[in-house]
Amino acid sequence: MPYKDRQKERERQRRRDNQRKRWKAPIRWEKSKARAARWRAAHREAVNAQAAARYAIKRGRLVRGVCVECGMAKVHAHHEDYSKPLEVVWLCSQHHRRRHMDEQP
Ligand SMILES: [Zn+2]
Ligand SMILES: [Zn+2]
Repeated sequence: MPYKDRQKERERQRRRDNQRKRWKAPIRWEKSKARAARWRAAHREAVNAQAAARYAIKRGRLVRGVCVECGMAKVHAHHEDYSKPLEVVWLCSQHHRRRHMDEQP
């Protein structure tokens, strides 16, 4: 194959590759969008419960406690049951994380 043709062939190949990349990109994006939607649906209850607890604290209906594990004053409101947003377990960030890690083996 003459040198010029070889170069043209390579040029064509590169354009094809670029095209393939462009085609792939939106698909990947769609996938991550679907994943984000799934995550939101799964966590909607959690997010709602957090918001309800925060609101209750602000209104004085819920009193912030200390971490039930270590007594730390800086706590998160942890929900054992998201359908009961005012039933919270007070946990510091460390023990909160640990509590959630225990949930998912
Ligand atoms: Zn703690
Ligand atoms: Zn939690």
